[in-house]
Amino acid sequence: MEFQSFIDPKTLILFTVFSYILKGILLKLAFNIRHKLFLKYLSLASFSFALGWLLFFLRFFIGINILSLSIANVFILLFPMLLICSIYSIKEESITPLYFKVNCFVLSLTFVVLTTKMNDQLLPGFYTSIFNGLYYGYAGFILLNHHPKKLVLSIITTLNLFISLILILRGCILMIGYLYPDIITANVISILLSFTLFFNLFCIDAQILCFPILDFIKTQGELEEVNIKLNEISQKDELTGIFNRRAFTEKLEQEKNKNPPTLLAIILFDLDYFKQINDQFGHDVGDLVLIQVAKIVQQGVRSHDMVVRYGGEEFVVVLSNTDWTEALAIAEKLRIAIATFPFSQENMTLPEQVTASFGVAVASSTNLSIDNLLKQADLALYRAKQQGRNQVCT
Ligand code: GH3
Ligand code: MG
Ligand code: MG
Repeated sequence: MEFQSFIDPKTLILFTVFSYILKGILLKLAFNIRHKLFLKYLSLASFSFALGWLLFFLRFFIGINILSLSIANVFILLFPMLLICSIYSIKEESITPLYFKVNCFVLSLTFVVLTTKMNDQLLPGFYTSIFNGLYYGYAGFILLNHHPKKLVLSIITTLNLFISLILILRGCILMIGYLYPDIITANVISILLSFTLFFNLFCIDAQILCFPILDFIKTQGELEEVNIKLNEISQKDELTGIFNRRAFTEKLEQEKNKNPPTLLAIILFDLDYFKQINDQFGHDVGDLVLIQVAKIVQQGVRSHDMVVRYGGEEFVVVLSNTDWTEALAIAEKLRIAIATFPFSQENMTLPEQVTASFGVAVASSTNLSIDNLLKQADLALYRAKQQGRNQVCT
């Protein structure tokens, strides 16, 4: 038949052997770099697959014997077993001792059945098709349970289920051919077996390729998460959890030359006599006061306003799109909120009252000079301190 010569099994098997040795080596190298366990399992699976098919290939020269049938199929069956280990590893689940025991049993059974029924026309082919099919099916099934949201995972799942289906179909064809040789002739069986072998090897190849892609996508995702976290850390003040000076500068840079132009207000405030609080109650209490003040201010502003620890016991609130009247009202509200907050706690000695002095500055976002705005607010704050503290100045 033409098709048979097109995919000559000898060439296909030899090609498979070399291709899986190469895949095994590449996956091992990838494991050495990435240290991901699933790559190690896949590398082992590839070597096992290559060895299995190499032994299988020997039948063209030494005929069917223990080596080219029983041991060859044990190694070929090891492939889906190790593939499942790899999938478990991706799912971050450990391989259970039960799975290990079942595999040992299945491999021993395979060896015994194939060795004792070596000359049987049906059993070896039927047995290997069904057992391989079940394993690939299981691989697909555990991935299905893993709710494969990622496209690559869905492809691996589909390929495994497809391989399983083809293998079980292959077993059934063999069975029907054996029971009803008039319906399915030996020639038809031979063509179908070549077909299924070709498609299975193609699907297994395709899924092996998917795993490094999956690793790449996963790594990208992890990197993005780390980047987001790092960015967050770089913008936050460690003690109070509010924004730091770097985030403040970035925000003001964004506000510059906003189109259409808007008014931008900042409230700069500094805790009054904070050194005394530290001296009298200790540095830890001073820290607690700073944390509490940050909370009070955060709760006292609108969700789109930005609360910043500018340094030490100095804070800034950035109010986008806010005019003088609004900014002064917010500053006064914050001043009262801090001055009236009951700091004292039952089991801790805390200052009864903490106050702060406020300086407010407003500028247009057009040609905004951050330095000028800060200077303006700083002068206002200085005035508030000079005039007796616990007050808002402009
Ligand atoms: P004024 O009313 O003039 O602002 O007086 P003040 O005592 O608040 O001002 P001063 O600048 O003399 O003191 C600020 C103190 O804030 C000094 C410093 O030890 C303290 N401080 C700065 N950062 C921290 C911090 O992270 N934790 C604590 N507990 N104290 C801090
Ligand atoms: Mg102070
Ligand atoms: Mg200060």
